[in-house]
Amino acid sequence: MEPTTGPATAGPQTPPRDVDALIVGGGPAGLMAALYLARFRRSVLLIDANQSRLAKIPRSHNYPGFAEGVTGSALLATLRDQMRRYPIDTATGLVETLVRTGDGGFEAGWPGGSARARRVLLASGVADTPPAMPHTLEALRAGTLRYCPVCDGYEVIDRAVGVIADGSAGVGEALYLRHFTPRVTVFLDEGAASLTDADRSTLSGAGIRWAREPIGSIRHGDDRITVRHGEQETVCDALYCALGLDIHASLAKRLGAETDESGYLVVDRHHATTIPGLYAAGDVAQGLNQITVAMGGAAIAASAMHLGLAAR
Ligand SMILES: Cc1cc2nc3c(=O)[nH]c(=O)nc-3n(C[C@H](O)[C@H](O)[C@H](O)COP(=O)(O)OP(=O)(O)OC[C@H]3O[C@@H](n4cnc5c(N)ncnc54)[C@H](O)[C@@H]3O)c2cc1C
Repeated sequence: MEPTTGPATAGPQTPPRDVDALIVGGGPAGLMAALYLARFRRSVLLIDANQSRLAKIPRSHNYPGFAEGVTGSALLATLRDQMRRYPIDTATGLVETLVRTGDGGFEAGWPGGSARARRVLLASGVADTPPAMPHTLEALRAGTLRYCPVCDGYEVIDRAVGVIADGSAGVGEALYLRHFTPRVTVFLDEGAASLTDADRSTLSGAGIRWAREPIGSIRHGDDRITVRHGEQETVCDALYCALGLDIHASLAKRLGAETDESGYLVVDRHHATTIPGLYAAGDVAQGLNQITVAMGGAAIAASAMHLGLAAR
């Protein structure tokens, strides 16, 4: 695994580090918060498990400043490089425990290290549930497998698009995509049996097709993606996966933080969670799952964390 943010300096015997701000996650939200807090002259420790969704973006066309688009890996490398210019302590690893200390702060633990912090930002993102198919990474890179119509619906205008889902969740995604192309087909794990009558009438009203038989297999090749359902095959230019997300909110939930009905952390306008001193930004928090939103939320959270520390 490529080191995310520089070498981890903690060993098993290292005593807990003591910092103003601990950041869990080194995607766009975590990196942006680290930059702000370091420039506010706060001691910062950023711990990252190196699984940023940003690294999976073949080319983003809705991130400002790059008229030709930018690959996620190039953007991540640039953000990391900018962060390295500041005295930000970093470690690679998965934070497994986060508890409150008696003085109102927090203590975090990860394999090989621990730290105490007065404020914590959770920037731990989400993970997409991938479809059961070989070569998902190649399909992602080629843009035949996609997760985010908000990000790249514009790139599939008038193209043949599939939506894979395990139930009615696929209907909403298909309707969203119908705005961009009239050629949308829904494929379901259990076949059309998992669609309600209301789903069917919504889909047919919008001119969206659906496959009757359950998905048999999915394969990527020649810059297209083929879905086998029953005895038939449908070839798509792109397949959007609507199989759900794993929201990485468990550290905050174990502290009692509130989540919304979808599982995202509830935050206020300063990006504070319902636990005093614990902030959240990026995909893990309420809002649109977008790079700019992650960065904006992180800037707001970092500014509030800084002011909160000054007020102590
Ligand atoms: C295929 C694809 C295409 C996309 N295209 C676009 C696009 O064009 N435009 C756009 O705006 N957005 C796009 N997105 C969404 C964008 O990538 C995310 O919104 C963005 O990366 C969110 O940033 P984040 O910092 O919240 O989370 P992430 O970037 O996912 O970073 C979270 C980090 O936290 C780490 N982590 C999690 N738990 C822990 C823990 N307990 N301890 C330590 N580290 C932890 C993870 O390993 C990861 O490195 C796309 C996403 C995908 C998957």
